[in-house]
Amino acid sequence: MTPEHSGVAFVGAHLRTNTDLDQLPEAAQPTALLVRDGRIVKLGSDDEIREAAAAAGVQVRDLEGATITPGLFDSHTHPNWAAEVTAGVNLGGLDSIERIREALAAEHARLPEGAWLRGWNLEYEPFELSGMRGALLEDVAPGRPIALICYDLHTALGTAPALAAAGIDGARDFDDSSEIVVDAQGVPTGELREPSAYQLLFAAAPQASPEEQRDALRDMFRTLAATGLTGGAIMDGNDATVELLAQLDERGELDHRVTVHHWHGVGDTDEDIARVIAGKDRRGKLWQTGAIKLFSDGVIDTGTAWLHEVDTMGDGRAAFWPSWERFAHVVRAYHDAGMLIATHAVGDYAVSRVLDVYATLPPREGLPFHTIEHLEVLSDADVEALRGSGVTASMQPLHMQWREAEGSDNWAVRLGEARAATGYRVRDALDAGARLVLGSDWPVAQYDPRLGMAWARGRHTPGDSSAHVFEPEQQLTGEEALLAYTLWPALARGHETRGTLSIGADADLTVWGADPVRASADELPTLPILMTLVDGRIVHEQTAKQ
Ligand SMILES: [Zn+2]
Repeated sequence: MTPEHSGVAFVGAHLRTNTDLDQLPEAAQPTALLVRDGRIVKLGSDDEIREAAAAAGVQVRDLEGATITPGLFDSHTHPNWAAEVTAGVNLGGLDSIERIREALAAEHARLPEGAWLRGWNLEYEPFELSGMRGALLEDVAPGRPIALICYDLHTALGTAPALAAAGIDGARDFDDSSEIVVDAQGVPTGELREPSAYQLLFAAAPQASPEEQRDALRDMFRTLAATGLTGGAIMDGNDATVELLAQLDERGELDHRVTVHHWHGVGDTDEDIARVIAGKDRRGKLWQTGAIKLFSDGVIDTGTAWLHEVDTMGDGRAAFWPSWERFAHVVRAYHDAGMLIATHAVGDYAVSRVLDVYATLPPREGLPFHTIEHLEVLSDADVEALRGSGVTASMQPLHMQWREAEGSDNWAVRLGEARAATGYRVRDALDAGARLVLGSDWPVAQYDPRLGMAWARGRHTPGDSSAHVFEPEQQLTGEEALLAYTLWPALARGHETRGTLSIGADADLTVWGADPVRASADELPTLPILMTLVDGRIVHEQTAKQ
């Protein structure tokens, strides 16, 4: 984006290096660093770095006390899916139907004839009195289909032209809890609850061309960079994802470090495995493949998580795989091919079964060991089983935002009070010696790593000091939360040149308005991200307006 590729020097900074330097007395710590050709080449005092920069002909920027940390990495994310979901106009923060109508009218004026009007990040509050009805919005874009999705991806709102195009003309039965909401006359209101219902709507909308998808992914990475993210692990990868990244890279438009985990479906064959393995070494300077994502269970909310004991509705004991031997066979094949495996395991029993399979794998020289994703509930025995397993626990305490203090949320009701208290045991996982990494699962939850860290530390709604704290004994320290977004994911993935500020390290940097470790969990979400660098390039810089 900017011509700093040859180099940049930062002085006047506070550095969180994730090395021994952080233990030095404050006065003895380096306050400046020099970046050249994508790497950190020198750390030192302001004077030392100014001198080195002058000698190298590199511009010097005074950060005036800002904090530099290694770049933040989201260990579980779906930016490509998110780019699709976040098509159109951002309706976030529009707190009245009038403001939503204004935004849609402006978008309508901009769009060519025949295009659908898409919007995302819609909030529920403006519709609290009226109910969610497409008719409230229809006349701002006469004749044009409008399809909007709420910020939490659980509900969509369509207008009559959109519903007609999708053939949605009444209530239907779905296998899951999805619903086409209808009025007293049985006419759809436009509100579509849960994916099976709202996918009918979005499937009818014109699909993005490959070029549009590529540009949307590029823009998505730039959006992520504005919150300090410099990279992430894509958990729903396929050949098309790899193609998009390769194209962005070729065009010089890739601003993010990415590892693609190929999605292995339960029904995938040995031929599929062979094909994925054959492509495992495909990579560019900033992106790589060589990783797998597979599932061992579902989610607690729908009774599909695999639990030691049934949930309060009698669910939770059904296997996700028709044959667990097949799961073990698949894992072994990718393991032997040298790939990194991430297995989704939400339920405690699923975690224990995956650990059992992982324990049968022969050691591999010089390669990182595998991960388990989510680990939402763990028995004490499961925590013990993590000890010495070499497994990375990839967790999302951020998802506690959907819990209710009194345990009235569906997740807690299903688990029952005692088991809900075994949720998101990040502290116990760490203490058991597991490597802990944090992530968002964007677009399932907000991508902002400041929020992710705030939840891992505070375990309550950030900024609300009166909010209920879930299992306070599981809180992470500020330092641990930062490590779980920087150094620990680098180590878990065998990236020796990432996760620290040190000579020779990749210049993936996040520049903060204040120290994210010393800031309280409540302050974190509003801490400014002044700059984000990937591979030595400034890919985000806060403007005065923000
Ligand atoms: Zn996910």
